[in-house]
Amino acid sequence: MLTIKNLSKQFDGVIAVENISISIKRGQTYGLVGESGSGKSTIGNITIGLLEPTSGTIKFKEKELWNKKGKFIRPPAGMMQIVFQDPQSSLDVRFTIKDIVTEPLRALPKQMQKEKFSNEYLVQLMRRVGMNEDHLNRYPHEFSGGQRQRIAIARAIITDPEFIILDEPTSALDVSVQAQILNLLKQLQKEMKLTYLFISHDMSVIRYMCDEIGVLYRGRLVEEGETEKLFLSPQEEYTKRLFSSLPRLSTVKEG
Ligand code: ADP
Ligand code: MG
Repeated sequence: MLTIKNLSKQFDGVIAVENISISIKRGQTYGLVGESGSGKSTIGNITIGLLEPTSGTIKFKEKELWNKKGKFIRPPAGMMQIVFQDPQSSLDVRFTIKDIVTEPLRALPKQMQKEKFSNEYLVQLMRRVGMNEDHLNRYPHEFSGGQRQRIAIARAIITDPEFIILDEPTSALDVSVQAQILNLLKQLQKEMKLTYLFISHDMSVIRYMCDEIGVLYRGRLVEEGETEKLFLSPQEEYTKRLFSSLPRLSTVKEG
């Protein structure tokens, strides 16, 4: 579904991402893990078109996302979405939940807009993320961090995307709430056949969520592999060190 080849990004001569190649299969969750500053968000932001690559290519469903002139070729409306870490700052406080959740619809064809703006559809969407219809006319400040992230997820799935970038989606949440959101994401993936690029600095979250993992260190991919294989026998020193950091989600059960 997504193929990144030899991707590099420099900011004023400083290398943030160096010669990264990864590929993400349809229906899978690919985890990018690494400490703060290792280049994870830069890769996500280039993929969604927020940052221009310095060199390299990204193909989404066989089509180049960045052309040779450095222009982003947007995938069909709503097919690719992103959820950020901090629902506090990613939800505009001046708008109602209904406004926020339906905002991505403006990019869709008129007929689809009509269908999805219907009360029936919105009620169903809210329930799907564990919220309810009464929440539609309220404002972001009335909700907890976990609820706000549910709202951000509703906004991402309203367009029926095929691919979602999740950039530290639970890192700002309490551990018990983290587990609920991770399980919601798993459930939605199953129901909607979603493909995820899952970005996190937390090894236990990554292990719980991902089919395949790429380990980033200072902008480079130091190791890559199937999740359980990588956890059972990490090859690189850096990966071993990462694994020895405290597992925080060891008690999470699916449900
Ligand atoms: P991560 O998400 O893994 O924490 P980032 O991708 O945000 O890492 O950052 C990678 C490196 O690039 C860091 O050194 C960061 O300071 C730098 N960086 C990220 N965004 C910018 C920017 N807009 N301008 C300058 N430097 C940046
Ligand atoms: Mg980041």
